[in-house]
Amino acid sequence: MGAAITLELSRRGHKVTTFEKFPSFHDRGSSHGHSRMIRKAYFEGDFYVPLLERCYDLWQDLNERSGQQLFQKTGGLFIGTEDRQLVVQSLASAKRYDIEIELLEADEVARRFPALRLPTGYVAVYESGAGILDPEKTWNYMVNEALALGADIKFDCGVSTLNIEAGGVRVVSKEGEIFCEHLVLSAGPWNRKYISDNLGLDLDLVPSRRTLHWFAPENNSHFQPEVFPPNVWEERNGDIFYGFPLIEADEGVKYGFHTAPLGGVDPDNMNREVREDEIREIMDKLQKRIPSLGQGHLRSKCCLYTMTPDHHFAIGALPGHPSIILAGGFSGHGYKFTPVVGEIVADMVEDRSPIYDLSHFDPARL
Ligand SMILES: Cc1cc2nc3c(=O)[nH]c(=O)nc-3n(C[C@H](O)[C@H](O)[C@H](O)COP(=O)(O)OP(=O)(O)OC[C@H]3O[C@@H](n4cnc5c(N)ncnc54)[C@H](O)[C@@H]3O)c2cc1C
Repeated sequence: MGAAITLELSRRGHKVTTFEKFPSFHDRGSSHGHSRMIRKAYFEGDFYVPLLERCYDLWQDLNERSGQQLFQKTGGLFIGTEDRQLVVQSLASAKRYDIEIELLEADEVARRFPALRLPTGYVAVYESGAGILDPEKTWNYMVNEALALGADIKFDCGVSTLNIEAGGVRVVSKEGEIFCEHLVLSAGPWNRKYISDNLGLDLDLVPSRRTLHWFAPENNSHFQPEVFPPNVWEERNGDIFYGFPLIEADEGVKYGFHTAPLGGVDPDNMNREVREDEIREIMDKLQKRIPSLGQGHLRSKCCLYTMTPDHHFAIGALPGHPSIILAGGFSGHGYKFTPVVGEIVADMVEDRSPIYDLSHFDPARL
């Protein structure tokens, strides 16, 4: 988000200084792991769809400008029973916004996507426009483009203190102090601690640990994107897990749980080692649903979500601090929105009226 916001503000001619606590290309936040899903028949709420329409244009534009495949259209499958949110709300969003989808029964899924096994009573919503984003390549492109436009990006340079002054904010880091008219906070899982320590506001933004796991398939041909698009599953007990096809032959197929037990972690002190029981849990799940993948564990990694109570984003001025804009609380589904978040935040900095309904994202509700 920080890279997208820096790029958009730089493009509009603003003087931007960006601080990143870690060296470049780090894996301690929320934006690493080589793949993110993009989809439009949005089960999290149909009010996201107008933003997604814009995102699709912006991702296409990013592909063209970078000359790389940062967005790859593959189609996507959303699997579950017809009485739960994933299927019900995906269908509702598709109907309201006329998004091209197909509702598939288990035998049709087995015919078209042979590695997948739907249990009795499960159906799949297939969205042909869904696809995969590459977070590392996107980050690299956005940062380099912003630098070329004159942004000052300071790596390994966390902001330690904020001092509110007349007309703006003074930002303190190991490189000294700068005064800015507008400050955008997009510190991901660190937002809560940072806002609380500096501004005395306690916002309900909960850093939540997730694990990612890569597996070597028995038969690579069954895990290519055309026969194995990105897929999200909602089980009868509400567990949601998701996975991606084989994008590069030696990378493996990635799976992880979207849902997790309640409770937050401290992003500075959490255990970043993936435990045996976490690997066993996802392997057990895959052995049932995608049997030809449930062995062959290659490696695992930790990543962080930042959850809000309603799982909607937090984008807007901080209560009582009109010159500080928060872009956070992305609740494990924000990546696909990065370019449009860049535009929304830049509009806020420029005090333009919002183009979208952002009422669900007001930080004041937290
Ligand atoms: C495993 C996993 C899978 C996901 N899958 C999807 C998906 O398929 N589709 C999708 O749309 N979304 C997905 N998401 C969600 C998406 O990746 C996140 O919403 C998004 O990456 C959040 O980005 P961010 O910039 O808010 O946070 P981060 O990427 O964590 O960035 C915050 C940055 O702030 C820096 N920082 C913190 N404190 C300071 C400070 N004091 N000074 C300077 N810098 C500081 C940190 O070092 C960090 O680099 C997934 C997330 C995870 C973890």
